[in-house]
This record gives sequence, structure tokens and C-alpha cells, in this order.
Amino acid sequence: MEKICGAVRLSPESSTTARLLLPLTRNLSRQHGVVSFNRLVGVRLPHRHLTSLTALTTHCSPSPSPLVSASVATETSAKVIDGKAIAKQIRDEITEEVSKMKNAIGVTPGLAVILVGDRKDSATYVRNKKKACESVGINSFEVRLPEDCTEQEVLKFISDFNDDPSVHGILVQLPLPSHMNEQNILNAVSIEKDVDGFHPLNIGRLAMRGREPLFVPCTPKGCIELLHRYGINIKGKKAVVIGRSNIVGMPAALLLQREDATISIVHSRTKNPEEFIREADIIISAVGQPNMVRGNWIKPGAVIIDVGINPVEDTNSPRGYRLVGDVCYEEACKVASAITPVPGGVGPMTIAMLLSNTLISAKRIHNFQ
Ligand code: NAP
Repeated sequence: MEKICGAVRLSPESSTTARLLLPLTRNLSRQHGVVSFNRLVGVRLPHRHLTSLTALTTHCSPSPSPLVSASVATETSAKVIDGKAIAKQIRDEITEEVSKMKNAIGVTPGLAVILVGDRKDSATYVRNKKKACESVGINSFEVRLPEDCTEQEVLKFISDFNDDPSVHGILVQLPLPSHMNEQNILNAVSIEKDVDGFHPLNIGRLAMRGREPLFVPCTPKGCIELLHRYGINIKGKKAVVIGRSNIVGMPAALLLQREDATISIVHSRTKNPEEFIREADIIISAVGQPNMVRGNWIKPGAVIIDVGINPVEDTNSPRGYRLVGDVCYEEACKVASAITPVPGGVGPMTIAMLLSNTLISAKRIHNFQ
């Protein structure tokens, strides 16, 4: 364990996210459109994927301005929101529920994953999902197709899983090979089994008052779950979401709105983002820019959920890099009232929410309370 600002920062070895899952470049995500945890890989990163932050070992880079020093208290005040512990608690709850369901009606929830091609990162992610399913007693089904298979073949497997009563959740691992139309494929997943929550009908329902989505995308759902489990009041608060991607930022903003927060969304074209961020009681950041949010951008007492996972060069680490969030933790933990670490914050929650969505699906399909 390494201590920063008096708060415990989990060592990379202590986090599944850090040990097994590392983010790929921003270019990759843009190239492939909708991308989820599939951008997380378990391979050593080529040097070009790392942001050079040698100076970051003790400070966020660049050096804090005088304004930062003035606004930041000398002592750590933030409570660490421990996503790893909460995710474990949720997995334990799911294990119990799965067992109850099995005993009561003889049904075991099932998750099917379709993997096309031989990308190492996607294979690692699929393996992690499989392991997570096993750990809570959920059945997992896996289809591996070669890179050069046709869209029709993928659609056929989706159709089979849509009709298979032992499958309650379907995931198509992204990115897909470039000759395939991602939208056609994702739209083919039955909305009743769309455990990633990316189907336009699920997102549409999330956005509409009085409508309920069947599934909420896993990472934003994990962010809100952390706020709930730490007893953080959302109603009537000012919240800012930094980033507006389909998989994190946009659904996170919709969720906060459903919880009666007043939302601002900051994106790459926002002028003076710090002006919006400084107003916020709750900050959810999903940008992918290491240490972008500085201590003096944060209102004292704000709650920070940092979704960003950014590898930065660290010559002190045996692997030559370490993971940091979008928020400069060293500065933020002196101003905020609560903050998620990276790693060990939102990361572990995403898979926990995938398991939760699969269980919800099985319960709904079999009308089991
Ligand atoms: P994305 O699709 O690349 O979206 C990034 C968003 O950030 C975009 O909306 C972009 O604005 C905005 N942005 C980029 N630069 C900005 C800047 N300088 N100021 C303000 N906004 C800026 O990324 P994503 O998939 O949402 O992922 C975001 C981060 O979360 C990444 O670090 C990723 O690895 C991490 N992540 C973590 C988990 C987890 O489970 N912990 C899951 C998914 C993603 P525009 O829309 O204007 O381009």
C-alpha cells in the first residue's frame, strides 16, 4: 500500500482493474465508436500509450498554481470511496440471490458473450467476465468467431441467444472488426437481454420521465451505486458530469437527473470548464485525461467520482507506468469531502453491475422476486 495525502491508495496489485485491465488509447475508442470496458486490456502498454508524468509521483503535473495552493487545505479531508470493497459486497449479495433463485425455481442466470477476432485485450476482458460470473454462480456462455467471419454469422448467434431460455444477458464484445456494422449488431440484441444497457430503447427510456429502462449501462450505474452506498444525498444538489460519451458521461448525467440533481455537462468544447466544475456538489468525471481536474477547480466539500483510467509513465513502478484518474487526486483529496481512488474506485463496480444486470434480467424473465 502506498499512502498519498494520508488516504490509502490501493497498490496496483490490490485491484483487479489495475492488475488485469488497462485502458487503451483514446484513438482506439474514437475509431470504434461505442466502446465499453472492452478497451481495458491486460497487456504491457507500448510506450506510446503512456502519458509522461514523471513529475506526478508526488504532484499532479503541471505544478500547482498559487491559486491551487491558496484554495487547498493542508490536511486531507476526503473520505475514500472504496469501490473495491463495495463491489465485493455487491458480488456477495448476488451470490446469495443466485443461490436462492436456483433453490427456489431451479433457474441459474446465464450471460452469453460473443467475441469476434483475436484481440488480446478483448480476450482478456471476456476471460474476466467469465471468471466474475463463475465467482457468483452465474453461467457463462462464450462464442469465439474468427476475425474474417461475416456479420450474418454474428447475427445468427445473437438470434440464437435471444431465443435461448438459459441465456438472460447478451454481450457483444467491442470493438468489432471494421467490416461489420456495429449498430446493426448491437440493435439485434433483444432489449430484454441487453445487460450492457446500450440499446437505443434502453437509453431512450432512461432519458424519458415516467419510463423505466430495462437495464442501465454498467459504469454509470456503478457511479450512482457508490453514491447511494456511501449515503451521499443527490436530490437537489448541483452536479457536473465531465464527458458525454454514450457509455459513461451521457447516461451518468441522465441518471443524476432522475435522482433530482441539477446537471451541467462539460465536454471538449466547453469554454472554461473549471467555472462549471467549481459550482458542483457532485462531480462525475469520465474524460480520459490524466489529472485534468485540479484542486482549485473543486468546491470545498464536493463529492468526486472519478471514472477515468489513464496510464501514465512512472519510472518508480516496476511496470514503468501507473494508473491515474481524470482528477488530480493529491490535490482533490484535500478539498473534497469524498473521492474515489484510481484504481479501486469505479473500475471494480462495472463488472459488479454487469452481474447485477444479468441477475435482474433472469429474475424479470422468470418473474422471480
Ligand atoms: P470517450 O468516449 O473518449 O469520451 C470522452 C469524453 O470526454 C467526450 O465526451 C469528450 O468530449 C470529453 N472530453 C475529452 N477531452 C476533454 C476535455 N479536455 N475537457 C472536457 N471534456 C473532454 O471516453 P469514455 O469511454 O467515456 O471513457 C472516459 C474515461 O473513463 C476513460 O479514461 C476510460 O478509460 C474510463 N472508463 C472507465 C470505466 C470504468 O469502469 N472505470 C469504464 C469505461 C470508461 P467530446 O464529446 O466533446 O468529444
